[in-house]
Amino acid sequence: MDRIHIEKLEIFARHGVCTEENFLGQKFLISADLYKDLHEAGMTDELTATVHYGKVCEYITKIASENTYKLIEKLAEEIASKILLKFDVEKVKIRVDKPWAPMLLHVDTVFVELERQWHTCYLSVGSNVGERKRIIDDSISRLDSCDEIRIVSVSDIIETKPYGFTEQPDFLNACVKIKTLLRPHELLEKLQTIESDFGRVRTVHWGPRTLDLDILFYDDERIITSDLVIPHPDMTNRYFVLEPLSKIAPFFVHPVKGETVCELLEKLKSKTPEGVSK
Ligand code: ATP
Ligand code: CA
Ligand code: CA
Repeated sequence: MDRIHIEKLEIFARHGVCTEENFLGQKFLISADLYKDLHEAGMTDELTATVHYGKVCEYITKIASENTYKLIEKLAEEIASKILLKFDVEKVKIRVDKPWAPMLLHVDTVFVELERQWHTCYLSVGSNVGERKRIIDDSISRLDSCDEIRIVSVSDIIETKPYGFTEQPDFLNACVKIKTLLRPHELLEKLQTIESDFGRVRTVHWGPRTLDLDILFYDDERIITSDLVIPHPDMTNRYFVLEPLSKIAPFFVHPVKGETVCELLEKLKSKTPEGVSK
């Protein structure tokens, strides 16, 4: 992807593990790569179509000089996430050099470099207890109110018969496309907090719930851990997931199955036409 590169912006700041560093201060050199499609800026010659690197430099200077951190890792992390939140860029690479770190050995420089980016995820939202429609709408607003989550699109809500444990009220289900700065496990934790805030109590597995938020896809990643599996392992058997998902991501390719959401939905419908709950 295109990028704007800022090389070794010099900043006087007070980061360091030694207390002397926190009041004497020293110079840091900060470099940044801002990844963004620059084609429109190239065609139109308009500043609004790109990222104003002067403003980015001022912002980095403010973050670095107005805070005191022990680690340049922390400084780099803060700069990366704040730039992603404030400017219209997909990904950043931040390098913080500390060439004059106080140690009794000579090094040319010491630096930390990291890359951070917005991730694209698809979530499934379900409710079959209480004011289901309001709960789904409010939970989506709640997601959007998190700084690190942005709602990109939301499917229509559909009503479905319960899956697995069938002696319970019908569900309302929807799917949501988000952009997030959260890592997969951080996202899961955030979703679980929102579920409990909406009164979710875990009693029967697949039982009635005010709100269920599942992660379907996280970029193209495949994750298998004891408490998180992505893509969601049972999603390809679920009409109530694939139907709304097909409305917002028809051509997204399932990273394990290698088939699009539409193809998976068609397959499910042909496999279990009478079992598909509508
Ligand atoms: P299912 O996951 O089959 O739809 P459920 O949503 O009813 O069932 P929950 O009780 O909500 O199940 O969650 C059980 C556990 O599933 C959670 O504690 C979480 O750690 C784990 N989990 C694993 N993968 C995912 C995922 N992709 N999204 C959400 N939770 C997941
Ligand atoms: Ca679920
Ligand atoms: Ca769940």
